[in-house]
Amino acid sequence: MRGSTRTAVVVEDDDDIRELITHSLTMQGFEVSTASSGQAGLELVVATDPDLVTLDLGLPDLDGIEVCRRVRDVSQAYVVMISARTDEIDRLMGLEIGADDYLTKPFSPRELQARVNAMFRRPRTSGPTGTDEAPGPAVNGSASAATGGSAEIATSRGTTTELLRHGRIAVDTEGRVATVDEQEVDLTRTEFDLLSTLVSAPRRVWSRAVLLDSLWGPGWSEEHLVEVHVGNLRRKLSRLGPDGMRAPIRTVRGVGYRMEEPDAF
Ligand code: CA
Repeated sequence: MRGSTRTAVVVEDDDDIRELITHSLTMQGFEVSTASSGQAGLELVVATDPDLVTLDLGLPDLDGIEVCRRVRDVSQAYVVMISARTDEIDRLMGLEIGADDYLTKPFSPRELQARVNAMFRRPRTSGPTGTDEAPGPAVNGSASAATGGSAEIATSRGTTTELLRHGRIAVDTEGRVATVDEQEVDLTRTEFDLLSTLVSAPRRVWSRAVLLDSLWGPGWSEEHLVEVHVGNLRRKLSRLGPDGMRAPIRTVRGVGYRMEEPDAF
């Protein structure tokens, strides 16, 4: 983010919806650029390096999925995918295309604003701030690292880094880097937040409702979002390591999720 004005690129071929999203984000303080095709949207993303991109799935030229992947290659923006079909959204989430959130049409300006606020509340990768104010707990929620995994606090030049370790997994909450066997895992913001929450108290069983609240903020009831993101996170973690890794996140039937014991994966 540059300066105090947040910028957004809205990619949507439907004039009415493009206008609605633009109005909604402008009211939220965004400086908005718009495109009505995937190619034009990509060019705008490259040209303006926005903080947020909203991306319609059904575009006249390029597939929204393809546009999302290409945005991810060139930009750190938060990406919200928008589709008219709920089943399409479920499929999209399974594809690991790197979007941060999903919205189904029709939606109200208020709903979009709430989603955007929730995304921007989450911590972002940041350089040294130069302040000596210590950051708050790295993870929302009541459990502390002391209840399970090991945490190292390293302080240098006024910045505090918390490194959470659990078995072969290490999570640097300040640098927002997760590794398996010292190899970096490419996670979306949501997946990273989910992993750091679970690893912050690996013996705790986290209910879907608590995870939803912790990651998206209060007021959401779509627990299937948590299931899909946990599924994606499991797949990514399992692919890593020299000989692959058993999924390190256990489902506790009827309750939620917890980390496996460190020697079990
Ligand atoms: Ca469309």
